[in-house]
Amino acid sequence: MDIKKAVKTQENIFNMLKKAKANNRLSHAYLFYGEEGTGKKEMAYALATLLYCPNGGCLECDVCKTILTGNHMNIDYIGIKEDKKLISKEQVVELQEEFAKTSLVEGTRVYIVDGIDTASSAAQNSLLKFIEEPINKTPTVGIFIAKELSNVVSTIQSRCIIEHFNAIDHKSRAKILIDSGYDELSSILATGLTNNPDEAVDIINNSNFETFKAAFLDLINIQKPKESIYYYLNHISIFSNQENLKVLLTWYMLFLEDANICIGNDTNLILYPLCDKIITYRKKMENRLRDLLEMTLSLFKKLDGNVTAKNVFHELITKIV
Ligand SMILES: [Zn+2]
Repeated sequence: MDIKKAVKTQENIFNMLKKAKANNRLSHAYLFYGEEGTGKKEMAYALATLLYCPNGGCLECDVCKTILTGNHMNIDYIGIKEDKKLISKEQVVELQEEFAKTSLVEGTRVYIVDGIDTASSAAQNSLLKFIEEPINKTPTVGIFIAKELSNVVSTIQSRCIIEHFNAIDHKSRAKILIDSGYDELSSILATGLTNNPDEAVDIINNSNFETFKAAFLDLINIQKPKESIYYYLNHISIFSNQENLKVLLTWYMLFLEDANICIGNDTNLILYPLCDKIITYRKKMENRLRDLLEMTLSLFKKLDGNVTAKNVFHELITKIV
């Protein structure tokens, strides 16, 4: 995710950090936790700009650019390696060795441990000394990043300022994609499937995306029982797969929820590019919307239970008209 955009979606946290900096009250240890894709890593680098930027973290100047591109000499980062699932003891040892060397550039040193909750308790505890005493008498700021707070040892938690990163709401997630040049409807649909904007980009770029999108648009256009039979026959090969069917059900659910709250030209709609269709659907289905919502919810449950996707898809199609 773009760092400036990420900071914008978590503006309250950045403002709070800025304020702490202005009052000379930045801590020497932070723990950022929250779901994937909520901008924790980006915020770690944004926090680092507060330590070096002559303009108090403008995110624009040369110093900030060096930091945001990961090229600042005094900032060390360790994260989970691509082929691994966790931060290893070796990575922690390497980081400590790196810090034992004198830095080439003067000033505060920063280390970021992205995925501290995946490291073993022993590896986590070996970082404690790091937090406790500045290395080579150089002021040091540690930033720990975790998905699960409960997997971070309490000794680290108690020494850090802890910040929770809320999941970004659907419209803001979609906006990140729209601002990157993706069309509105695709952005909203893709971010309806994941809380992580980066993952949503992968979804849009997946070769099946346009097929799913077309199938969804066809689904909400079904008017008569005969059309639903054609629809079933045309799409059964895709939607006899559980994961594929979940995509269709998720989007149909969003559509029904919108239809349920829609009063006229409503700007609160999630699927606002389909506003006209939503209004028409509401008029046509008014008395049945709640039933359809309940039915769709129950289909999700059936899919997670033992009912095959093929049967669930059949039920959807027969009940939709
Ligand atoms: Zn700057």
